Amino acid sequence: MKIVLLGTSSAVPTLTRGLSSTALIRDGDVFLFDCGEGTQLQLMRSGVKRSRIHSIFIGHLHGDHLYGIAGLLSTLHLDGRETPINVFGPEGIRTFLHAAFRTTEDKFSFKLTINEFPRGYRGRVLDEEEFYVDALPLDHSIFCLGWRFQEKDKPGIFNLERAQELGIPRGPLYGRLQHGESVTLPDRKIITPDMVLGTPRQGKSVVYCLDTQFSERSIQLADKCTALIHETTFGPDAVDMARERKHSTMEDAARVAKEAGAENLIATHFSSRYDGRQIAQIGDEAKSVFENIILGKDLLEIDL
Ligand SMILES: [Zn+2]
Ligand SMILES: [Zn+2]
Repeated sequence: MKIVLLGTSSAVPTLTRGLSSTALIRDGDVFLFDCGEGTQLQLMRSGVKRSRIHSIFIGHLHGDHLYGIAGLLSTLHLDGRETPINVFGPEGIRTFLHAAFRTTEDKFSFKLTINEFPRGYRGRVLDEEEFYVDALPLDHSIFCLGWRFQEKDKPGIFNLERAQELGIPRGPLYGRLQHGESVTLPDRKIITPDMVLGTPRQGKSVVYCLDTQFSERSIQLADKCTALIHETTFGPDAVDMARERKHSTMEDAARVAKEAGAENLIATHFSSRYDGRQIAQIGDEAKSVFENIILGKDLLEIDL
């Protein structure tokens, strides 16, 4: 999996940072988390293919996370896209999109499925063969969902040599063992999957927490994840402002990462009051709480 940060500014864009959006690329499919104004341009600059967007997740309805979606969907229509697309978001996203497209009389070349969740919703929003996505409410000034993209564990590698030693005939029994079933051989010997499979390969996970103040629910959502993408709007000079506006400081996010046992923290959604040098300094200070902090910047690619 690969993460590409498309926009890392909060509230307003700056000359070097666009508004919130992050692409997660898995097996060529693109999953877009938030779609602030300017996301289309950032997609082009990054080389992430908009034609491969599978789903768009909008955590909450603040404009800096949302206003790019109408333009992006309109462009996909002009591309002549036929593949359906899913949008996931809190209650109100349907009204927003319908208002935009009714006003402009846009009709799409593709099927748009809007999945809307009521206030307080928690649960699985997408479940496919190799991965799923869970949602959990965060703690922001309006209803805001955090997302966990989780690859399912894969069975261990099939040991052909061992299978032959055990006298398992080639054919469908191999497949059944690979799918976790025990099988009985013609001589009545029972073979369990662990006799021929290596240790299971653990799926990777990416958790997206924007926007929120420090919250136990973020810790719960980020439990032992591979990468936690968490908002870090403010530094230690603006703790009061963070509390008042229900945002996080870099240190809050570091605490979430530490308590969740995350492998990495990807810091993003920086207030425009800070320049790059100040953000680097704020990041360095928070490393005393959690070591593996990756400071986000636009178009940064992170391989997992
Ligand atoms: Zn925001
Ligand atoms: Zn917000």
